[in-house]
Amino acid sequence: MARLVMKFGGSSVADIDRIRNVARHVKREVDAGHEVAVVVSAMKGETNKLVDLVRAASVLHDQREYDAVVASGEQVTSGLLAIALQALGIPARSWQGWQIPIKTSDAHGSARILDIDGAPLVKAFAERNEVAVIAGFQGIHAESGRIATLGRGGSDTSAVALAAAIKADRCDIYTDVDGVYTTDPRVVPKARRLDKIAFEEMLEMASLGAKVMQVRSIELGMTHNVRIFVRSSFDAPEDIDPHRPPPGTLICDETEIMEHEVVTGIAFSRDEAQISVRNVEDKPGVAASIFGPLADANINVDMIVQNVSPDGKTTDLTFTVPAADFERAKATVETARETIGFARLDVAEDVCKVSVIGVGMRSHAGVAARGFRALADRGINIRAITTSEIKFSLLIDAAYTELAVRTLHTLYGLDKA
Ligand code: ASP
Ligand code: MG
Repeated sequence: MARLVMKFGGSSVADIDRIRNVARHVKREVDAGHEVAVVVSAMKGETNKLVDLVRAASVLHDQREYDAVVASGEQVTSGLLAIALQALGIPARSWQGWQIPIKTSDAHGSARILDIDGAPLVKAFAERNEVAVIAGFQGIHAESGRIATLGRGGSDTSAVALAAAIKADRCDIYTDVDGVYTTDPRVVPKARRLDKIAFEEMLEMASLGAKVMQVRSIELGMTHNVRIFVRSSFDAPEDIDPHRPPPGTLICDETEIMEHEVVTGIAFSRDEAQISVRNVEDKPGVAASIFGPLADANINVDMIVQNVSPDGKTTDLTFTVPAADFERAKATVETARETIGFARLDVAEDVCKVSVIGVGMRSHAGVAARGFRALADRGINIRAITTSEIKFSLLIDAAYTELAVRTLHTLYGLDKA
């Protein structure tokens, strides 16, 4: 017997038929003798609708009431799934975040989970053999007694946090893809599904735009060592043998992965813009005078590259920001022109950041150099480079995105046979 958390996203509970399909997935695990807690998202599109309603009511709204409204999507699916399970003869009940309780911070709209009391759920397993169906995405700020939500995509985080709280053997994330791929299969048809990926690698992939799971859920999985299994809810429940490993990707501690490739995956993001500040003075305080105002404006700066000045007098400083913040970032730097002191701004909006990720890089030299050579051979110019222990990122012209990703994918042996 194992204890499982099963999480189903919006497309997996999109209508009553899909909810019945979920119930059959749950039944399969219950019949195999497992204790099961299910976490559900709102039905596909519902949260967007609720957010629109709130904005229509007032653009400047009380975030606590925003949470009261948007949390309702998950309340509906938790009740519906409990009903569907009961119809299959499986004891089940729904739990809202406040009923467990899942205690959160008071950052309404993007609250953090502080504490979950898993005891009532474990008791329900033992005493009533009851499946717990939990509304994802929501909790309660205990001091004020108000409902709080965890930010878009937050049901993933609910599921992983819950798995940690009830000491589940595994947290299964059922979604509309059958796992985590070496890169986006829509861009690289030879992309391969990974059997396993280390938390750290997945954290990079998720932060860099592989939108399989909310980033915070991976952080939590890493902290509490929750084994997370990404799999498809579109496989027919009857075709799956609960005693054999199904298709999917296990996100786990790197010590659980025996055969490490040097590179695990390639992520890319076209939502980047580049700003180069030309001829700033080469003296203490210049970087602070640029990035201070950007931070105050809540603009997330990603890559930062500063050249070594040739004469000790002036230098260039290049950085990237999310494309959506480009105009604001440019204006912010322009406004601070007096304090910063620079000759001009050179900008580029049609850029793409390609990142090569793998914990194997820690113990292998020359991984990035091979990549640079391969791109040069294809005539691709690199605008900026950043590196960390387990990844390197390159900024290139967006027009070369597909060529660059495919080239690197082949180079590092990621193509499927
Ligand atoms: N329903 C919420 C959203 O759409 C949470 C989730 O699906 O994870 O963002
Ligand atoms: Mg999601």
